[in-house]
Amino acid sequence: MFDLTGQVALVTGASRGIGEAAARSLAKYGARVVLAARSAGDIERIAGEITASGSKASSVTCDVADYEEVASAIRHTVETFGAIDILVNNAGVIEPISRIEVSDPDGWDKVIDINVKGVYHGIRAAVPHMLEKGAGTIVNISSGAATGALEGWSHYCASKAAALSLTRCADKEFREKGIRVVGLSPGTVATQMQVDIKASGINPVSQLDPSVHIPPEWVGETICWLCTEAGDDYRGTDCSLRDEGVRKAVGVI
Ligand code: NAP
Repeated sequence: MFDLTGQVALVTGASRGIGEAAARSLAKYGARVVLAARSAGDIERIAGEITASGSKASSVTCDVADYEEVASAIRHTVETFGAIDILVNNAGVIEPISRIEVSDPDGWDKVIDINVKGVYHGIRAAVPHMLEKGAGTIVNISSGAATGALEGWSHYCASKAAALSLTRCADKEFREKGIRVVGLSPGTVATQMQVDIKASGINPVSQLDPSVHIPPEWVGETICWLCTEAGDDYRGTDCSLRDEGVRKAVGVI
């Protein structure tokens, strides 16, 4: 059990998959949660379900590729619940999966807008509030792709490497000011993203049997764990959920 009572969290990409699981876990441990994504109906429904279960939740439509929309989501969080203590930069895409020689430059660019600039936008907009308080936790959802190379994933690997670099840089700037910036590499997770990867058939990840993927709830629990003192060990780096020791510490084995 992790105690996040009194904390206020914003989760991007909360309309399904890992983001939805993170929002539900954060609420379960006492945080007030704002769900952000482009699919208004889904985040409203999930926020409604969290509220009905006795926790506090709100939703805000937000495309993380647009800085003004991210800044507005942070303002919504502070106006609704009085603070922002936890930011989960989770929104991410892998489509269009494509080999470089036939890739669409606009599609490649869009992935960078979401997976890289989206993370920067979140940090940029949330940090002034956290600095004022002298405390806060930012969890950037990373991937093995941040340090590995896979055919057809040049956009995704480059974007996750850049997100890891943002984790490192932000830690350098804010560690001494009380802000914990950590990355989380979840391994393969049973979400729509893995359905899309399987359909591409392009590299060894697409050949994996779906039974090897971990449930998104494990990632939601790990995000909450990283929001406690346990997260101190992962400041400025990626924590790997493939690590058995991490799984044991979180309690998801
Ligand atoms: P998913 O099921 O496809 O969900 C992606 C989420 O991101 C959705 O809620 C989507 O909501 C949101 N999103 C996409 N573009 C957005 C935008 N421009 N603005 C705001 N929200 C946006 O994928 P997932 O597996 O949960 O992925 C979540 C994160 O985990 C990603 O960063 C991904 O790279 C990472 N990850 C996943 C795996 C895996 O195996 N699944 C492994 C490693 C890392 P809307 O479409 O409603 O906006």
